[in-house]
Amino acid sequence: MSYDLEQIRQDFPILQRQVYGRPLVYLDNGATTQKPRCVVEAMTEEYYNVNANVHRGVHFLSQKATDLHEQSRETVRRFLNANSVNEIIFTRGTTESMNLVASCFSEAFMQEGDEVIISTLEHHSNIVPWQLAQNRKGIKLRVIPITDEGNICLDEYEKLFTNRTRIVSVAHVSNVLGTINPVKEMIEIAHAHGVPVLIDGAQSTPHMAVDVQQLDCDFIAFSGHKMYGPTGVGVLYGREKWLDRLPPYMGGGEMIKRVSFEQTTFNELPYKFEAGTPDYIATTGLAQAIDYVCQLGMDSIEAHERDLAQYAVSRLQQIPGMQLYGPMAYGAEGAGPLSFNVEGIHHLDMGTLLDRLGVAVRTGHHCAEPLMHRLGVDGTVRASFGLYNTRAEIDVLASSIERVCKMFA
Ligand code: PMP
Repeated sequence: MSYDLEQIRQDFPILQRQVYGRPLVYLDNGATTQKPRCVVEAMTEEYYNVNANVHRGVHFLSQKATDLHEQSRETVRRFLNANSVNEIIFTRGTTESMNLVASCFSEAFMQEGDEVIISTLEHHSNIVPWQLAQNRKGIKLRVIPITDEGNICLDEYEKLFTNRTRIVSVAHVSNVLGTINPVKEMIEIAHAHGVPVLIDGAQSTPHMAVDVQQLDCDFIAFSGHKMYGPTGVGVLYGREKWLDRLPPYMGGGEMIKRVSFEQTTFNELPYKFEAGTPDYIATTGLAQAIDYVCQLGMDSIEAHERDLAQYAVSRLQQIPGMQLYGPMAYGAEGAGPLSFNVEGIHHLDMGTLLDRLGVAVRTGHHCAEPLMHRLGVDGTVRASFGLYNTRAEIDVLASSIERVCKMFA
């Protein structure tokens, strides 16, 4: 499939709709993405023709549903270039994946006074789970500072390692600034200290090829709904040698080998971490979404979104009073979300008025309050791009911002 935007947009029915009598310009892809027809149809087809609980039945439908579910796991394995399907755990999303690692890793490998390194630009889902572990076990959070441009200070990162550092947990791409962190280098540094790394891939996996063997990461988390798949399903990749050593996260059906009141033994990977009925319909949808983006080509998607982001920077920079945040505002390449404020206009007012003009953006702290604090703002407006957005839509964004500015003038 070549990168034919017109054709691609036809695959997403919602993009044809209007809001307030205007064509929808959907620029909130960092929060969630729209779904191509093939994803919805595959899930509907499974409900209509295959539905049965997985792994438990000897009957025809259960075996078919199990086959589909396990094929989806293989699709995810291929997508991440993981060594084995044993390393692919289905979760409800990035948040659950991050909580799983923070909870199980701290339980198994961290004592009071041991340290986790995170960064200033983390989403709350990579801060709060570690604070919960802090409350339970007395671990410490060490935080990598960022520059005014919104880049990780690598020198400071290196200095944070002590003989109590047990894990590093950082975002691949910032959901606010679009910063692409040098995670490969950060992983090398951590490994040189004998420390494993968890990557929050929520904002990278939808936008660029992510190869866990090439990155050499120990864990990576992502959400299906941010990459054109359904809500309610996500992934935790973990290196087998780590997953093997972690205790289970939740107890229940599927994650056990044998249960008695005296003693219970746990199932093998990946099932040890998948208690209860998985969302096997959503895993089918996720696999369809992965096939869809892979057919377009992750490199083509990245190139397209980089072009859009660069174009947006150049258009928005011309608007008087515009303050853009993050590395892209300083000339760095990036495809990720673009945050801004316009002097004298509150981000919430800007977002609300843009909405009335048909432009969907996000406003507020973006679940990154410590980063807002570092930037010295209480919130920003964020435009985030997807594989189906067009330069014409960026023009609508820019002219709509200009209209809002006129209203406030
Ligand atoms: N991390 C980052 C960087 C994110 O952008 C998000 C979603 N905004 C999350 C984690 C949480 O993802 P989810 O709500 O799908 O669990």
